[in-house]
Amino acid sequence: MQTPAPFEYERATSVEGAIASLERLGPEARIIAGGHSLLPMMKLRLANPEHLIDINDLDELSYIREEDGEIRIGALTRHVHLLQSELLRRWYPVFAEAETVIADPVVRNRGTIGGSLCQADAAEDLSAVCSAVKARAVIRGTAGERVVSMGKFHVGPYQTAVGAGEMLTEVRLPMRPGGGSAHEKVERRAGDFAIAASSAAVWIDGGVITDVGLALSAVGPITVHVTRAEELLRGKAPSEELFAAAGEIASADCSPTADGRGPVDYKRHLAGALTKRALRRATAGALRQEA
Ligand SMILES: Cc1cc2nc3c(=O)[nH]c(=O)nc-3n(C[C@H](O)[C@H](O)[C@H](O)COP(=O)(O)OP(=O)(O)OC[C@H]3O[C@@H](n4cnc5c(N)ncnc54)[C@H](O)[C@@H]3O)c2cc1C
Repeated sequence: MQTPAPFEYERATSVEGAIASLERLGPEARIIAGGHSLLPMMKLRLANPEHLIDINDLDELSYIREEDGEIRIGALTRHVHLLQSELLRRWYPVFAEAETVIADPVVRNRGTIGGSLCQADAAEDLSAVCSAVKARAVIRGTAGERVVSMGKFHVGPYQTAVGAGEMLTEVRLPMRPGGGSAHEKVERRAGDFAIAASSAAVWIDGGVITDVGLALSAVGPITVHVTRAEELLRGKAPSEELFAAAGEIASADCSPTADGRGPVDYKRHLAGALTKRALRRATAGALRQEA
């Protein structure tokens, strides 16, 4: 089936207006941002919203800026702007690394960070990136705003903490010195979703890992937070042996399924090997900051 079911369409002129429409129209209404995930799902009739609220005119949701010791990214910020941002490149090179391997320029010119996170597809690269860097999501509804950690944002496959009558408005990243980050991905062809991907962020002080974030794409029903490996790494001096042990944990703690992209064992192997590589490069970045 290549034609979506019939739907009503409206173009929001303000964030408040979009939220009021979501509240008024109820659960059959959906936000549309870049449309690169939602429209294919509608064409396949996997999603059948009765109302679409288009937020593409909301320039106030498109920005990457520094504020109150955080990098703040508006939900409508496109992939291409994440790729080009000097501020992000300086603090979190993991964004540019991931964006280079997300889809192609056509998708990157249109798709948004908000759409990527709200799609809650376990294969999305940005979900792992945002988890690794310990981003927080700002969710707004008529009752006001709440801020949710990435660990609590994805609550199931294609399900997020964004409730009825709410939308994601902003993603916030901590600006902590001494950090490095990296994204490693294996895909079948350039621009494909990952067979497996690993994002790592490492903070080092005095030669010791003070904090670390590790997350995997495409090897579980939702983004996999490799918390056991994070606990192992925290408080230790970085070493190849430690990275290998963290990779083994990533391999054991993910839960891939066999599909056209590969069998379970291969995906587990990739999760481990990519975690080791991402950690190695993130640590090298953190050590350069420390020097
Ligand atoms: C050919 C192709 C290849 C791709 N390859 C990759 C890849 O390699 N890696 C990767 O990570 N991604 C990939 N993608 C996905 C791409 O990154 C999409 O842009 C992204 O998944 C969705 O962003 P969007 O703005 O298009 O969202 P939309 O399709 O507009 O929306 C997606 C979902 O999010 C909801 N939503 C959107 N914005 C908000 C908001 N502010 N608040 C609440 N809900 C919201 C919508 O209601 C919908 O449910 C690919 C897509 C295509 C078409």
